[in-house]
Amino acid sequence: MKKYDLIVVGGGILGTFHAYHALKNGLSVVLIEKDPQPQGATIRNFGQVVPSGMNAKWQRIGRRSLEIYKELQSITDISVRQNGSIYLASDDEEMSLINELADINAQNDYPSQLKTSADCLARYPGLKPSYVKGGLFFPEEVTVEPRLAVHQVRTYLIEQFHLDYCAGQLVKEIEENSNGCQVTTANGKSYHSAKVIVCTGSDYQNIYPELYANSDLEVTKLQMMLTAPQKGQKLPGSILTGLSIRRYESFTECPSYTPIKSKEPEGALSKKWGIHILFKQALDGSVILGDSHSYADVSHSAELGFDIDQQINRYMISLAKDIFDLSTWEIAQTWYGIYSQCKTKDIFETTIGDSIHIITGIGGKGMTGSPGYAEQSLKRIFELI
Ligand SMILES: Cc1cc2nc3c(=O)[nH]c(=O)nc-3n(C[C@H](O)[C@H](O)[C@H](O)COP(=O)(O)OP(=O)(O)OC[C@H]3O[C@@H](n4cnc5c(N)ncnc54)[C@H](O)[C@@H]3O)c2cc1C
Repeated sequence: MKKYDLIVVGGGILGTFHAYHALKNGLSVVLIEKDPQPQGATIRNFGQVVPSGMNAKWQRIGRRSLEIYKELQSITDISVRQNGSIYLASDDEEMSLINELADINAQNDYPSQLKTSADCLARYPGLKPSYVKGGLFFPEEVTVEPRLAVHQVRTYLIEQFHLDYCAGQLVKEIEENSNGCQVTTANGKSYHSAKVIVCTGSDYQNIYPELYANSDLEVTKLQMMLTAPQKGQKLPGSILTGLSIRRYESFTECPSYTPIKSKEPEGALSKKWGIHILFKQALDGSVILGDSHSYADVSHSAELGFDIDQQINRYMISLAKDIFDLSTWEIAQTWYGIYSQCKTKDIFETTIGDSIHIITGIGGKGMTGSPGYAEQSLKRIFELI
């Protein structure tokens, strides 16, 4: 019977980076994933790595993620591109917020640059002069290709660090005994280890359903679109717009945030559907466009349904058309993604017995926060600090 130092359950970004840091610390690891290839939130997102959007705590974690992504990219191609992030302000209120955030960043020693509308129009072809009043640019930030990155990190870990990867195996039971932990899959296989880290995202039904049902975890459903490749139009990096300035946590730390938010009309469709407009161009020139947010408690998650609401997509496209002239608005794909988050905390962490650690609920910041967060959490769990 082989006994690993660590079993990681769940091959999304959080599980994969726990495996990464464990292997880098010389531990033996098996990663168990229920699907042939992971296809949860980690695959369905924009791939924006944006510490600029996070509160002070998560910005520090996200900045460490940036270092980890860049270090990995210097060793092997995991689809990281450093083209920076821009927040485009569309009115005086949003201009105030980006100015205030620039001051906060200066105090935190995080590079950001205020841009005029002319700067923005020059860098982002197709951006509408009628929309943009100015921008805040973060030169250190990167993007990844969500449908490639986690697979490429995992391949690197298998090839260079002898990660054992068991795909298509749904974990049904985890037990702690005097010899450590035993993990059993639906197809009857057993794995043994000193410790287990469970990073199963928004899947609350297969293991520990009662624990999740009694927690403050919830699920969020987001609608996303992908345009056909844009001909000759290059939109570098992450592009976030006025509604993101009004939504992202970093801006809540700005002095004028609360008075500005209190003036927003209650009945706006963007509020009702939790919409803000983000653009991220993929390697083939297509543009990922989104997103909307709807929420449900763990025990009511099925009520979010499996449909894509075309009314929401049409509205997001109409907002996007106010911001950019894209060379094509042909929508090649639509999908939804689901992530788990806590209502009152910034992540869900709990330990069962001595050796089973559940970590989920990282919310909408997982591509940004996971590499840095997993490093700290792995060190805590294995008492490496
Ligand atoms: C539409 C969308 C856009 C987003 N955009 C961004 C962005 O641009 N930037 C950003 O920072 N964040 C973004 N996020 C958030 C980010 O994608 C998530 O925070 C992150 O992917 C969560 O990772 P995870 O590993 O916790 O979960 P997941 O990616 O869901 O991974 C969980 C894995 O566990 C597996 N699993 C579940 N149960 C079992 C079991 N019993 N046995 C074995 N395997 C199991 C699943 O198959 C899955 O592969 C976005 C999210 C969505 C949905």
